[in-house]
Amino acid sequence: MDPRNLTRRQVLATASAGAVASMSRAIPAYGNLVKKAGKPAILGGQPVRQNKGWPEWPHWDQEVVDAVVKTTKSRIWCRIQSASGTVPTFEKQFAEMMGTKHCVATGSGTQALHTCVEALGIGPGDEVITSPYTDPGTIAAILSARALPVLADLDRRSYQLDPADVQRRITENTRAIMPVHMMGQPCDMQSIMRIAKQHHLPVIEDACQAHLAEYQGKVIGTIGDVGCYSFQSSKTIACGEGGGIIGNDDDLMDKCYTVHNHGTSRRGLTEVIGPKYRMNEFEAAVLLAQLPGVRERFARRNANAAYLTERLKDIPVVVPQKLYEGTTAGSFYLYATTYHKEHFNNADRAVFLKALAAEGVSLSPYIARGLHREPWVDHILESPVYKKMYSPERLRQYREQLPCPMCDAVCEEMAMLWASGPLLADKADMDDIADAIEKIYENRDLLRL
Ligand SMILES: *Cc1c(COP(=O)(O)O)cnc(C)c1O
Repeated sequence: MDPRNLTRRQVLATASAGAVASMSRAIPAYGNLVKKAGKPAILGGQPVRQNKGWPEWPHWDQEVVDAVVKTTKSRIWCRIQSASGTVPTFEKQFAEMMGTKHCVATGSGTQALHTCVEALGIGPGDEVITSPYTDPGTIAAILSARALPVLADLDRRSYQLDPADVQRRITENTRAIMPVHMMGQPCDMQSIMRIAKQHHLPVIEDACQAHLAEYQGKVIGTIGDVGCYSFQSSKTIACGEGGGIIGNDDDLMDKCYTVHNHGTSRRGLTEVIGPKYRMNEFEAAVLLAQLPGVRERFARRNANAAYLTERLKDIPVVVPQKLYEGTTAGSFYLYATTYHKEHFNNADRAVFLKALAAEGVSLSPYIARGLHREPWVDHILESPVYKKMYSPERLRQYREQLPCPMCDAVCEEMAMLWASGPLLADKADMDDIADAIEKIYENRDLLRL
């Protein structure tokens, strides 16, 4: 098969609406063709990128520092001390930014997700369908409610939930679908929402990586019943540890508030089961001071991602994440690609990553194994609590249906850039990334080990 044709077809398959649809053969304005030549650094040549750092993350400036000092001196450190403190103010501003009516801030993304699971009345005996390719916090939110996380397999090219497999895994005990917008780019929400409606299931969007990403003109996290965000240090809006729930349903969002406030409602009555998951005022101070630059950084990551994707389109060894039709903007928390060993003399991914790192460009294998392969599975299948709540037949079937071969493939093929900081760099830095990949690709015969 002609690899060039394959490349073009892959490019078409991965094209987002505007980003890479152009098939222009023009040499990109910033292309630095001189750098590509030469011996790989791993064999003693000159690295493409030397003694150059990347924009650091998380972001801070004097505004952030001043905000923390101001909160310290105010002695308002907890949200219940003031209706106009940093937490309620952040909730208002974040909801406005996302275009929703309500936001409830929490201590983490995991707490946000768990709060939604509880607020929807999901508990022992219930099942929630989600992805095996995600942060452990996603399933922790389901397990904390003693519900069963049912893991559906992935679309190998988008790394997102495969809607057809979601459909197959629905049982009479399914109570919700929790799509995860991996890398910060939207899932196939049209198909997922269609399935959810058909089965009358609420949708909890795990948008913990996907701040401000947009799909079919809607901000991610506003398509399902509720959307959950993380503000953990690495995320594109960060305060160390923090989270938030957004939504338009007055009753459900009121319940989320009650649940996250140890079951105590805004009316002051302790009404339901709930942990204490309140965000503190220092975290919100950091977030508030950071919000003004968020859109600009988001636009910059998107522009750099589109440029990088354009530069990579004729280098078949890595193929950027497939974006679904209707993706108008991604969050680009991570810039992810699939490593194609068939275009690298069938060499192990480690050989490629090592040669690339020597050029001064580090891509990561990211998640080592899907959550279906982690020991928590044995833990719950052998736990007296789960044995009490689920029939032996269901638990046997659960184990049988665990395999997620596409997720396994994704774990083996992933080559991604931690993007929160690096995608804020200049176009010349994006050229370094593409030049390094191209150089290693062109020298693949020398690197046969
Ligand atoms: C970070 C993350 C979480 C958990 O958020 P925390 O704030 O770390 O608890 C959940 N899901 C995904 C996809 C994440 O990336």
